[in-house]
Formats: sequence, C-alpha cells, structure tokens
Amino acid sequence: MSTAVLSVGSNVGDRLAHLQECVRGLGPAVRAVSPVYSTVPWGGVEQDDFLNAVLLVDDPTADAHEWLRRAQQQEREAQRTRGIRWGPRTLDVDIIDVAGLHGDSDDLTLPHPRAHQRAFVLVPWHDVAPDAVLPGHGAVADLVAGLPATERDGVRRRDDLSLGTP
Ligand code: ATP
Ligand code: CA
Ligand code: CA
Repeated sequence: MSTAVLSVGSNVGDRLAHLQECVRGLGPAVRAVSPVYSTVPWGGVEQDDFLNAVLLVDDPTADAHEWLRRAQQQEREAQRTRGIRWGPRTLDVDIIDVAGLHGDSDDLTLPHPRAHQRAFVLVPWHDVAPDAVLPGHGAVADLVAGLPATERDGVRRRDDLSLGTP
C-alpha cells in the first residue's frame, strides 16, 4: 500500500516554481513526473489557467493518510489559502489513487471521486503510466479516449516547461 498517484496544480504566483518546489519537497518518494500541462480551470470559477502535472510516488512506509499529510504539507509550504471551492490556489495536491484502494473517511476519499472526469488528471497520468487503471472506472487510456472534446481541448502540453526528472 505504498505507491500513489498525485495530481498537482497551481494558478497563482510562479506556477511552475510551486510545482517544482512540491516535487522537491516530496523528495526521493517521487518516482516519475509527467509533462506539464496548461489547463483551463475546472468547476466554473472565473480565474487564471492552471499548470498541472501528475506524480507517481512510492514509499513503503507511507499509507494513504500519510500521502494526504505529505500533500497538505506541500500546500502549506506554498502558503495555500482556502477560499471559494475550486477557486485559485498556489498549490493543490490531490491523492488520485493509492495502490488501487477504495476508501472513504472524513478527510480522504479514494480513488479521487472526480478524477475520471478530469482531462488535467487523466492526460498527464496516461503520459507517465500508459497502462494505469483508475479503480472503479477502468483503463486510464480508455477514459482519456472517452473524454468530451471540450474537456480534452482544455489541456495543452507545455513542452517548454518541465518539473525535471526524479
Ligand atoms: P477537488 O477535490 O474537487 O479537486 P479541491 O482540490 O479544490 O477540490 P480542497 O479544498 O483542496 O478541494 O480539499 C478539500 C478536502 O478534500 C481536503 O481537506 C481533504 O481532506 C479532502 N479530500 C478527500 N479526498 C481527497 C483526496 N483523494 N485527495 C485530496 N484531498 C482529499
Ligand atoms: Ca483538486
Ligand atoms: Ca485538493
């Protein structure tokens, strides 16, 4: 129960630096980083575009709540503030999947309940893990292929930007 898929995003301040700091802060647990995507905000709030990426992380000592704790620690270090739902933020780190687990507690739902609808999660995840499966929803490749054009067209790969190689 140690391998996890994290979605990272930023649309405030130095967006790329926030994502790079997050990768650095997660340390040696980071096993793969996806390309960076410029993405249209999801959820209807008028705001700047995001940069998004997906990280594959692994640490035999970490359970699902430990990944949430580490994710929230990175958000705090980016001085994230909580305003309107799905509003602007310096850093958002979501736990998409932890080793295929299904689970629901007060502060953690796995897999992430909206991941299957989100091109900004599925497209970069597919880049780093072409054979990945989203528990309860099937192959990520099929989910990408089935995205509505409006959702798929909202993400644009930025080959001029990089989070480096772990
Ligand atoms: P969304 O969850 O739709 O992407 P969001 O990222 O804007 O929205 P937040 O305000 O960052 O939502 O998080 C709200 C709460 O969601 C967090 O306090 C956290 O405890 C809870 N949560 C539940 N499941 C997860 C998960 N899989 N990953 C991250 N946070 C989760
Ligand atoms: Ca989120
Ligand atoms: Ca979040």
